[in-house]
This record gives sequence, structure tokens and C-alpha cells, in this order.
Amino acid sequence: MRMHIDWTRCDGRGLCIELLPELLTRDDWGYPVGRGGSEIAIPQNLESAAHDARALCPTQALSLHG
Ligand code: SF4
Repeated sequence: MRMHIDWTRCDGRGLCIELLPELLTRDDWGYPVGRGGSEIAIPQNLESAAHDARALCPTQALSLHG
């Protein structure tokens, strides 16, 4: 499973970074980016947290694929 961030929707407050600190960090402007680059692969042990982040994102900027 992979996560996609739609930065055109994101408000940059960072809730998803707090929920998935293992996978996400802030860029220079405070927006979330994958720690490993633009491909954000979700390991099985973080799938539940990824679903929570997607559901709780206030602007529906997160989507999960695969
Ligand atoms: S929770 Fe959503 S709006 Fe907030 S920083 Fe993450 S992607 Fe952006």
C-alpha cells in the first residue's frame, strides 16, 4: 500500500506527520513529505495508522493506493 499526498489540498498543519512520524516529516515550508522520498510505501504494521491519518486529514488530501 502507498500513500499519496495532494499538496493542493493540504493546509500543512501536520496532523498526518504526528500520526505517522515513522513515514512522514516536514519539508522546508512545513508540508508533509515521505521520509524515503515521494514514494510513500506503507509497511503492514503502519496500515492502520495510515487509514486513521487518511480519515482524519481535515482537507481529504491523503489517499491510499494498492
Ligand atoms: S493531515 Fe492533511 S491537511 Fe494536515 S498536513 Fe497532513 S495532508 Fe496536510
